[in-house]
Amino acid sequence: MDEKAQKTIAGVLDKRMNRQLLYYLDICTRCSICKDACHQYVTTGDVLYLPAYRAEIIRRVYKKYFTRSGKFYPALSEGSEVDEKLLDELYKTTYACTGCRRCMYYCPFSIDTTWFMAVAKAMLITAGRGSQILAELAGAAVIKGESIDLFKDIIIEMLKDTEKELQERVGNPKANIPIDKKGADLLYVALAGTHTILPAAVIFHQAKANWTLSMFEAANYGYFLGDVKQAVAIAKRIIDEARSLEVKEIVITECGHAYRVMQFLYEAWAKEKLPFKIRGIVELMAEYIKQGKINLTQDKIKEPLTYHDPCQVGRNAGFYEEPRYIINQVAADFREMTPNREKNWCCGGGGGLVAQPDLDDFRIKTGEIKVEQIKKTGARIVVSPCENCRLQLDSLNEKYNMGIQITSIMDLVANAITI
Ligand code: SF4
Ligand code: SF4
Repeated sequence: MDEKAQKTIAGVLDKRMNRQLLYYLDICTRCSICKDACHQYVTTGDVLYLPAYRAEIIRRVYKKYFTRSGKFYPALSEGSEVDEKLLDELYKTTYACTGCRRCMYYCPFSIDTTWFMAVAKAMLITAGRGSQILAELAGAAVIKGESIDLFKDIIIEMLKDTEKELQERVGNPKANIPIDKKGADLLYVALAGTHTILPAAVIFHQAKANWTLSMFEAANYGYFLGDVKQAVAIAKRIIDEARSLEVKEIVITECGHAYRVMQFLYEAWAKEKLPFKIRGIVELMAEYIKQGKINLTQDKIKEPLTYHDPCQVGRNAGFYEEPRYIINQVAADFREMTPNREKNWCCGGGGGLVAQPDLDDFRIKTGEIKVEQIKKTGARIVVSPCENCRLQLDSLNEKYNMGIQITSIMDLVANAITI
């Protein structure tokens, strides 16, 4: 790699530099407390997955290119040149990080490893070394946004069968799944396929909600890739749709990263203030139940059931009580995992790992702690309001022969609704 390419890649760090990142670069005392917080280091013992080490790779680049000693006394600076070896290491540790921030929670200085991982991803993309699979998925989503008319008929066709199922479930031949409904109160953003559309449609129908379905899926692979421009373009498809339909709020399905992108990141990235509210479907369901807009059967689930706090919904967004409130309405034997809430262990599937086949074995291995946590509860059902977590839990269930059932909160509620 020539010097110009090295400086261009290192220059990404300079462009991303701000007071917070500088603080993170300066303050780490190498105390190693974070080593016991990261499920990836605990289950593999590989230093590459130690949170402080992930940051250290970036710190070495900083020391080499942006400190006086790195420039004039390189042998004393602990700096590292940007070369293929460094990029290989960076790729492995960065696209493996689930962004769960458990390390940040336990770090005495609250050092946020995900900041380093965001810089690392931007450096890798600049070097032409970003994740191929995530780039393809993000690119496909952007194309869909640019040519939605081509996809509209396919979506309408796909929804015909789902609408029939809805009518049977609610016993009403007029029940429908509205799309493109101008003036609806809420725009519901589901995931690809119909598994997050049908239960939501049952709930909205019973709550007599004035809703409409988004043409776009909630997942944002630009976010996982670490390409802010693409992440904004993918989110903006939904924002533009909400604007043109003049809805009052956007409701995101049970998908942790999608919710976080729309609720917490989009406005800062796009530098625009949104004219409508954004919230997750779990919050809305809890509101419907509290307001008596949906009635749930008194015949509660008797099998032991536990709840997995998705990192993006719990630790990274602060939603702990709403899911538990709902679960307690429908389940008679709810058992908490230990630890839970902000201390909960990551399941191992976040950060886009479930979409990267080359990391399959790694994520199954690093899910060991979650398997043990679930087993200790004795639960037969595991509930989690995040698609990535559910996919990972499905994999763990199969690989570790757990014999459990994994479900969303929407499915629990839709199945408990009295028609
Ligand atoms: S816990 Fe914080 S200060 Fe200690 S090594 Fe890890 S990142 Fe550094
Ligand atoms: S964010 Fe999670 S996966 Fe990434 S280093 Fe921290 S604890 Fe490990």
